[in-house]
Amino acid sequence: MIKKILVANRGEIAMRVMRSCKEMNIDTVAVYSEADRTSRHVLYADEAVCIGPAPSKDSYLVIENIINAAKQTGADAIHPGYGFLSESAGLVKRCREEGIIFIGPSAEAMEAMGDKITARKTMIAAGVPVVPGIQRDLESTEEVKKVIEEIGYPVIIKASAGGGGKGMRVIRKEDEIEEAFTTAKSEAISSFNNGTLYIEKYIENPHHIEFQILGDNFGNVIHLCERECSVQRRHQKIVEESPSPMMTPALREEMGQKAILAGKAVNYSGAGTIEFLVDDDGHFYFLEMNTRLQVEHPITEEVLRIDLVKEQINVANNLPLRLKQSDIVQKGHAIECRICAEDTTNNFMPSPGVIKQLTEPLGIGCRVDNYVYEGYEIPVFYDPMIGKLIVWATTRAYAIKRMRRVLYEYKITGINTNINYLRRIMDTSDFLKGKYNTGFIEKNNDFLLSTKYESSQSETEDIAIITAYMDYILNLEENTPKTNDNRPISRWREFGKRNAMLRI
Ligand code: ADP
Repeated sequence: MIKKILVANRGEIAMRVMRSCKEMNIDTVAVYSEADRTSRHVLYADEAVCIGPAPSKDSYLVIENIINAAKQTGADAIHPGYGFLSESAGLVKRCREEGIIFIGPSAEAMEAMGDKITARKTMIAAGVPVVPGIQRDLESTEEVKKVIEEIGYPVIIKASAGGGGKGMRVIRKEDEIEEAFTTAKSEAISSFNNGTLYIEKYIENPHHIEFQILGDNFGNVIHLCERECSVQRRHQKIVEESPSPMMTPALREEMGQKAILAGKAVNYSGAGTIEFLVDDDGHFYFLEMNTRLQVEHPITEEVLRIDLVKEQINVANNLPLRLKQSDIVQKGHAIECRICAEDTTNNFMPSPGVIKQLTEPLGIGCRVDNYVYEGYEIPVFYDPMIGKLIVWATTRAYAIKRMRRVLYEYKITGINTNINYLRRIMDTSDFLKGKYNTGFIEKNNDFLLSTKYESSQSETEDIAIITAYMDYILNLEENTPKTNDNRPISRWREFGKRNAMLRI
């Protein structure tokens, strides 16, 4: 049984994993770069090892530094979180050589799903529908033209090694081919060190719906229902919810079965995600598989009342799945908002810096997957996401109301965040109606970016409360209260009484 886990990650996901370890009485080892000495995951872990300078290519992405840290601390397992080395078959192989348990799938499963061209081939062979397109490297713009003649416009050119929405270009007419090919290729080389491109049909405004799956080392694979991830900006998710407002029980059953088929095709073990594009008529196509925990995994945990990290650790301990397909029933509704340190009024530029004040929401139905604290300096080197707000409620309408309340309670100063932008998403009629797809952000762009809305009701309320408070204090200064025998009354006591009445 695993006794000590090294978490090969940082930020909120390192905290998330270690929180489950603590509940399971498993010791934790944090790794950190020189820029992360004061990060909360380092303070939270039982032990911590510095693995190199700030740039992730010199620290969080160096397999040998991670392996050495595990050996040095006697960790018997490594949890990779998401991003960084979480989908590196190289790390899995090194763990195997060193007798360290990797909490995730086999290197073979990772490789079969690792690049998009191989994943498409694997899925076609397994009988899972993929977006129409090709399964080979595109050599030239001439070849692009030939493929388009076969499948017709619009198409999307994609980097086979792609991720994070990079290396993709939509082509709607012939004169866009040249530029799309060149820019996608150079982005693929600079981001992934791999210029392999392929082409698939561009589905207009689809839904991005993904299925969580869970497999063990005994051939069992189940699905844990869907997450709707269509609120995307530049192909990156911002808000996710479960269940999907467009899902029907029949479609869930059909897609869930295909997700299981996809997992079984690669002998999948652990937690993974099968991403699909779905059109308005319910036709769905495999997009890619993520062989790791997803950022948005908490909404699945909330509607199923399970701990996915705990399930991952159980599978890594070589135990059979604890859950059966018939145990999986979504209850209520969950929404997640990604909180990012960015300036939405300046093209979403990252906004690193020192957090001056921070009040995180609490209360019924609210979960905050966090890592930042007051006085913490957000480093410039990593992803601008500083945490996730997750709400659960009995119905979708109630979950939206709860998310509004939770966003109102989240107060942070010293840096810019996308909180107001997220509030506006909650106020958009398409979102309220649950009638949206991946075109949502573009369609509602003016409303979402409108500065008129900047002074939202909640901020006006805050200002009113502060003004009332200042008036009250000034008034106290002038009229020190007295008892009936003319002794001054303690201002604190007096204030305390009135404060209770005013409910400031
Ligand atoms: P990445 O691995 O970079 O995240 P994905 O292949 O998962 O890229 O696609 C990310 C998003 O890009 C999807 O959720 C969808 O919004 C859009 N997208 C990708 N492929 C297509 C397609 N063939 N048609 C329409 N939209 C697509």
